[in-house]
Amino acid sequence: MQIAVGGCLAQKDRTGIVERAPWVDVVFGTHNLDVLPVLLERARHNEAAQVEIEESLQVFPSTLPTRREFAYAGWVSISVGCNNTCTFCIVPHLRGKERDRRPGDVLAEVGALVDQGAIEVTLLGQNVNSYGVEFGDRGAFAKLLRAAGSIDGLERLRFTSPHPAAFTDDVIAAMAETPAVMPSLHMPLQSGSDRVLRAMRRSYRSEKFLGILDRVRAQLPDAAITTDIIVGFPGETEEDFAETLRVVEASRFSSAFTFQYSPRPGTPAADLPDQLPKAVVQERYERLIALQDRIGLEEAQRQVGRTVEVLLAEGEGRKDGETRRLSGRAADNRLVHLALPAGLAAADAPRPGDLVTVDVTHAAPHHLVADSAVGGGTFAVRRTRAGDAWERRQAGGDDHAHGDAGGACGTGGGAAGPAAPVLLGLPTLGRR
Ligand code: SF4
Repeated sequence: MQIAVGGCLAQKDRTGIVERAPWVDVVFGTHNLDVLPVLLERARHNEAAQVEIEESLQVFPSTLPTRREFAYAGWVSISVGCNNTCTFCIVPHLRGKERDRRPGDVLAEVGALVDQGAIEVTLLGQNVNSYGVEFGDRGAFAKLLRAAGSIDGLERLRFTSPHPAAFTDDVIAAMAETPAVMPSLHMPLQSGSDRVLRAMRRSYRSEKFLGILDRVRAQLPDAAITTDIIVGFPGETEEDFAETLRVVEASRFSSAFTFQYSPRPGTPAADLPDQLPKAVVQERYERLIALQDRIGLEEAQRQVGRTVEVLLAEGEGRKDGETRRLSGRAADNRLVHLALPAGLAAADAPRPGDLVTVDVTHAAPHHLVADSAVGGGTFAVRRTRAGDAWERRQAGGDDHAHGDAGGACGTGGGAAGPAAPVLLGLPTLGRR
């Protein structure tokens, strides 16, 4: 076994990692995932740790030869880095300025994924709304959504993350007018206090944020909107926190990723005075969780009785074995656990990647239950190419490596073999 450490912390700590953990074989940064196989081989050959950090991006990560974790869905990076300077965030320091991939390269990669069986793709960037800034096209992201959404065979298109400051109405229109773009949106709020947003160097204000949500819901009434919120940013007062609660109440998020602020060394906020005591942050955090859980439950309860189409997934339902349910995501990205009809033959059971239509019967703050099949109600399975691809992979065949940005799949046989992939999160890289 070899151990490699990569990403933001590796970029920052470099040789310090090997000094503290001499059993580590390779340290690589945020810009040179592409050389990892070479570094691992060199570490093995030289019997010495290899530390290599590039200061600028060499190759877009998702263009590397890969073995995707799931056959039915994939992620495609459209940009790397960020031109914003949020004071709590280490990304600008470690990942550098935004680099945009050419639209043709992105579309070719989406097309290649779909050819391999994926029916859902998520476009990925630190700030997808500023996509195009590098090649001078402010409308590039909306155009990209429309173009990717028209790729034959792609049924579900998502993206993450947008930035409220750069979120424009042409993107909302593209979402509403492109059937493949799913009615879900992750819109990071971070704080509801304008004073804290200013200190965070986030250039929108709470009213602008709420206005975006109103315009999204006007065109996509069923959109489920999620967010990120930081509690306890340095100097946050009780009044500031009350503003966050106000905006959360008004936003009606379906769910929220909530964080207690903790200083990241190397970020401007880490040096701010007025770092808050842990007990204060904890108490506010618990109030925020209680509020969001109530709202999440109320919003989920509005789904009861609705018919939803669920893309079955692998590993989404931790209790599926116990409850004898399958799990997946509705179009709005809500997690749904569904029951199968009694006596369903194994050959007729839906597979990960298939689409199942069911009625929602029960709501919880973080998931829906759709047991309509139990009483003989709605239950329809649409077997998909993605389910076929999953089945082939289970059978050990068609373990297709992903091609280069030009869409050629010719790296398949060489760089990424079918057996025992080296898991790197996203994407996964095959063993040479
Ligand atoms: Fe970091 Fe996101 Fe702010 Fe960019 S927009 S600096 S990635 S938090």
